Amino acid sequence: MHRMKTDELLQLEVCIERLDPASPSYSLIKQDFLRRTAGYVGESTVDRYLQYLPPHAHSFQDLRLFDGIQHFQMDFLLLIDGTLTIVEVKNYKGKIIFDFNHQQLIRELDGREDIFPDPFIQVEHHTVQLSRWLSERGFPLIPIQFFVVISNPQTLIETRGHDSLSYKKRIMRARRFPHLLQSLKNPNDSPAWTDDDRDTFIRIVANENSPYNGSVMKKYGIMLNDLQWGVECPACSKSGMKRRRDHWHCECGRKSDDAHKKLLMDYALLLGPEITNATFRQIAFIDSEYIARKLLTENCRFNFGNTKNRRYYINMDI
Ligand SMILES: [Zn+2]
Repeated sequence: MHRMKTDELLQLEVCIERLDPASPSYSLIKQDFLRRTAGYVGESTVDRYLQYLPPHAHSFQDLRLFDGIQHFQMDFLLLIDGTLTIVEVKNYKGKIIFDFNHQQLIRELDGREDIFPDPFIQVEHHTVQLSRWLSERGFPLIPIQFFVVISNPQTLIETRGHDSLSYKKRIMRARRFPHLLQSLKNPNDSPAWTDDDRDTFIRIVANENSPYNGSVMKKYGIMLNDLQWGVECPACSKSGMKRRRDHWHCECGRKSDDAHKKLLMDYALLLGPEITNATFRQIAFIDSEYIARKLLTENCRFNFGNTKNRRYYINMDI
């Protein structure tokens, strides 16, 4: 089971690569990128341990559903023996302190202290949203439980304040999580779902899952011209290969036939699959309209519009 990076993480990755570090948005985007990368690594760790769940367990990753009011996103949702389990994964370095009195999470690292919102506030709310979602679709009520799983085995975990809601036992290490889950039995008096309910649930969730598909460029107000474009050399990674008659040439001496493919992919990821000849020349540093047309025709699925403002549709499988 190999986890895919989300579209948002891929967009952030390309943005960081191409944005001038002196740009005002750079540090914000970098933070966002690091946070999501940590999330990705943490969830991949949990993926590994979830393989130890019993075979009849069903697990969904990165699930984003709409409760009728707003979307909610769960790192994991598990369906095991008539119980739903929401899992929030946290991947932190250093020491974390769950402060139950003030509902906050404190992270201490390299002599610095950062405050984050208490993850239990979020998963608790997800429980309410998921119940609402289930009842609107006519599913019989079944128990929903939640856990915060710490994926980095080196994280030092502490709690502080009065644990009036018994949250401490809902904080788990990734490695122990599948074993503890299996030891939690479904209360006998709760009406379990039939096999039909279970199958319907799995089908509807898969149908309604709507991953975030927003634009990082829009979110941070970045324009095409804010990014450093150019065809990247596959050998030395320097951007700005020069187009010769039938190949790309880098000052390091490397030649390439298809180095523009990555550029087109990056463009499509950040700005969508449509591109014009003029924009392509601008980002690939090509003077010749003819060469640009030739490359676009080779790498695009189709084009539309008249000759002057023809738009090409970048083929994402190039
Ligand atoms: Zn080079």
